[in-house]
Amino acid sequence: MADTKLLQTHYSKSIHGSHILHFHNVLDAYGHLSFRHPTDSSLFFMACSIAPALIATEADLIEYRVSDGEPTNPNAAQGYIERYIHSEIYRRFPDINAVVHSHAESVIPFTISGVLLKPCYHMAGFLNPNGVPVHDSANDVVAPNVPDLLVRNTYMGEALARRFDGDNKVTLMRGHGYTVAAKSIELAVFYAIYTQKNAAIQSAAVGLIAAVGGSMRNLRLLNDDEARERTASVATTAKRAWELWVVEVSDSTLYPKH
Ligand SMILES: [Zn+2]
Repeated sequence: MADTKLLQTHYSKSIHGSHILHFHNVLDAYGHLSFRHPTDSSLFFMACSIAPALIATEADLIEYRVSDGEPTNPNAAQGYIERYIHSEIYRRFPDINAVVHSHAESVIPFTISGVLLKPCYHMAGFLNPNGVPVHDSANDVVAPNVPDLLVRNTYMGEALARRFDGDNKVTLMRGHGYTVAAKSIELAVFYAIYTQKNAAIQSAAVGLIAAVGGSMRNLRLLNDDEARERTASVATTAKRAWELWVVEVSDSTLYPKH
């Protein structure tokens, strides 16, 4: 009974999470959030192939095996092609319980320009101070798949998952987007939103420096100590953001109530 209630709570959190990510422009009609089954670590859930803003109930969620990214019910509805991003991260990292994959526009320039995305402000200390890694899925394409940069199988998912070694929380994907791994649904949503905001801030700062003919060495980023301290404190304050974000989407007529 307690297990059922826990699972219901996770269903609800994940649906709120998808709506929140849409509300904050991290997801549009594409991208996805998943979570690991709270009492059976060999399983995870993500929505069937619909826009995240329109997920209405747990009936829209599909249960998948971590081992191969395939649904436990062979008659399940059509799922997202890129579910292997999620399955391989869960397979590699037993302490990861939620994953977000996004195509947010503000992040894309950092996947194609050679300019490293770094923590610019105190809300994004979870980003790697040495630069967020950029993964190129084109290197993992095996015939007969076409090189469209989508993560289409466990092989491609495993290559991406390796980028999260060393407690890395965010990986950029060349010409595609980014993926976030976290210990909870709330933290995954938090990291996804503030990665996008940090990218917009960094682009704006670089533009300001260029406008006055300044040197990029004037870009003052968080140092290692500052980033580490902020990462530790975010985990304790993320609840405040989550509570606000739930109210925002609950008040909007766009998102189905559940
Ligand atoms: Zn994608």
